[in-house]
Amino acid sequence: MKEELERKLVERWPTWFDVNGSIKRTLMPFGFEHGDGWFGIVWRLCEQLEPAVNRLEKETGRKFEVFQVKEKFGGLRFYCDSSTDEIDALIRTAEEESTRTCDVCGRKGTTRGGGWIRTRCDEHGDGNA
Ligand SMILES: [Zn+2]
Repeated sequence: MKEELERKLVERWPTWFDVNGSIKRTLMPFGFEHGDGWFGIVWRLCEQLEPAVNRLEKETGRKFEVFQVKEKFGGLRFYCDSSTDEIDALIRTAEEESTRTCDVCGRKGTTRGGGWIRTRCDEHGDGNA
């Protein structure tokens, strides 16, 4: 995603996304490795995760951290270091939503084949927008 969108997420949830961390520990220094069209999905997911993460941190005494966010086979992948059934379910819902959402513009899309599987609307098709 473009930097200004990434920055919004990092500023809102600074302890979740360690974009300045060591790549031995987290892949977030590589950024959010998906298109701008999924910003809304990731933002909503993080908002929904907040209460669940607060409970998890309280119970375990550990900080929740996301170590990779990327596109794979046309779908969002959101990997974190610890989770609960509740957190897993929220992530799964967001990942499913991404397979119906164009990763360029955020409109309704379908997963399309070819060399690199992506989820796109009709307008953005299979191009490299
Ligand atoms: Zn599109």
